[in-house]
Order: sequence, then structure tokens, then C-alpha cells
Amino acid sequence: MPNTLSLPRRLSHVAGMIAAFIGPTVAKWSPRPALPLVAGPQSVHLGNGITLWRLPVGVVRVRERHRALPQELADVDEKLRFPVMMSDRRLTGWLDCTAWLIDHPEGLILIDTGESASFGTAEYFGGDAKSMGKIYPKIIDATAAPANDLPAMVAATGHDMSQIGLCVLTHTHCDHVGNLATLSPSTRILISPEELVPRAQSGRLLAKLPQDGRLQQTQRSLPYGVLGTVMPLTTRGDVFVAPTPGHTMGHQSVIIDLGHQRIIIAGDAAFDDVQVAKGVIPGIVEDRAATLATYDMLTRAKDEKPTLSLFTHDPANFTKLAGFETGRDRPRLPPRRTLSPADNLGHGGLAIF
Ligand SMILES: [Zn+2]
Repeated sequence: MPNTLSLPRRLSHVAGMIAAFIGPTVAKWSPRPALPLVAGPQSVHLGNGITLWRLPVGVVRVRERHRALPQELADVDEKLRFPVMMSDRRLTGWLDCTAWLIDHPEGLILIDTGESASFGTAEYFGGDAKSMGKIYPKIIDATAAPANDLPAMVAATGHDMSQIGLCVLTHTHCDHVGNLATLSPSTRILISPEELVPRAQSGRLLAKLPQDGRLQQTQRSLPYGVLGTVMPLTTRGDVFVAPTPGHTMGHQSVIIDLGHQRIIIAGDAAFDDVQVAKGVIPGIVEDRAATLATYDMLTRAKDEKPTLSLFTHDPANFTKLAGFETGRDRPRLPPRRTLSPADNLGHGGLAIF
């Protein structure tokens, strides 16, 4: 049952939203806080020859109600959620913006591309400059410090952008596709089919996606427990893409299955673990019910096997990764599932590499 606010309250949220769009960009509300010192990438050896790199690529500031709606406004109807969020004048500090690099024996997989110092420019928004280019800076503030860009972070891992075979996009909001232009022409880009279905007021930057044949749509074919039907990315069947809709209806996550435990790189499925555990809804979700269903799926995944969920903007990522039990003292059993050609992995039955 949606929370039906009184008419005066509804009107005041709508008026606040209009004022926000008429007024200055978020970056001009107050002096920008100093940018955090650029930290280098962080790596964790997961076993099975896999290393996961956390790449801090740029930073974002959002309204407090964008990060989390207060309890009394959590279940306003879908149309009112955006005005409720936009009428908030309080900002978070700089939040992490994370891209991830999986160094797998079968190849390098990048997940998202992070934020860029050129946020706000017409060049950055490309074909979306006229519409989204005007709207986005009223919703968020974003930038990157020098040396905090994606190529620099990838170089710091000892790799080169041209070595990345595949980039999985969790979704197409700016802070996830902000450095798409820096990808090598040889890097394929994987996006869910649902993300490509236009939706009004979704904030998806579909015009930024390259149209040169590099884009591939996720083809899900393998039942994978509570996480639904997934697409395997490796022939040995230990990295998958799973649908995690809600934030956008095409939002997807990447799973690294280590046999006895796993990691879910869950993008903006939530801002942090507490939101998932308590059912806290951010101010920007395309579908509240789908968001809660994804929370439920992430929670039930932990009942199947130990599962670490990592979110793009979670300041706890460093600590969560540093504390991840890699099981070095346990035998590194290969995943039990063996893939067959019937799993329809794309290129002639082979996995995506
Ligand atoms: Zn984001």
C-alpha cells in the first residue's frame, strides 16, 4: 500500500524538484569538498588463479535522500519518489565510485568504467548532451582527480586497457559508463537486453554506448540457484552475469564462484549491506518491488553458500575485501559444474573469451 502523502506535502516536493532544476548545478551549491587522496587499486587473490582488483575511479556526491529514503518516505508511490529525492538539499560527502577488474586465467574482465573528470561536459554526454547533459548535473556532482581515471588505474594493476577482453556494464548511469570512451576498440561490452529498452526518466545514457559492433547483449542460459538464470563468462564456469533488477530494470551483477564461497559484484543493486538487510530504498530506483526482490535474492544467496556482496559506492569495500577469507589454508577445489555446449555460451558454444 503506497504511502499517500497529503496534497500540500506532495506539492511541496514537486515544487522542491522544480526549484532544483531551475537552480544551480549540484556542484555549485557549496564549495566542493577536497577530493580524496587518490588511492591505488586494491587486489585480492581469490585462489583458482583469480585476482580481483578494486579500482577507485572517480567520486560522486548525491543527495542524502538519493542514497537512502527515510522510513516515512520509503513507500511513496513510484511517481512521487523522484520529487521527494530532488527536494532534498542535503548532500553526502564524496562517495566511492568503483570499477572492478577480474584477472582470470582465461582473460581480463572489467566491470563498469567509473566516473570521469569530464562529467558535465557536452563531450562526456555525447548524444545525450541536450537532455541528460542538462539534467544529470542537477541530480549529482561527480568528478575524478588527476591520475584517478580508468586507464591510470588499470595501468597500476600492471595491465593495459588493450588487454581487457570484456567489459560488463551493470547498468548505464553516468558513474558506470563515464569512461566508456577509454576502452580499447578490441574490448567487447556486455549489457543486459532489458537495459536497452528505453524507459522515461530512467537516466540511462544509452546514447553513450558504442555502435560499432562491440556491444553484446547478455544471454542467460544456466540455472544458478537463487540467483536465477545466468550467463557464464568463462569456459570453466566460475564467472557469471546475473540479473539484479530494480535500480534499473536492466541492472546486472557479476558473480565469481570459488566453489566453497563466492563474490557478487552487485553494482548499484544497493549502496551497502545495511540497505539490503533492512530493506532501505535509495531515492533513485526504477522499480521498488524489483529492488526489494533483488535484496531478497542477495540475502538468500548467503544461505546457499558464504557470499560477499560488493557495491559500487560502498565506503566499506576496502575493508570488506581486505577481510575476505580467501581460504588459502583450504584445498582450492575447482567448481563442480562442468559446462556443456548446450549451455549456449555465445560464440559457437564457447564461453565469451
Ligand atoms: Zn552508481
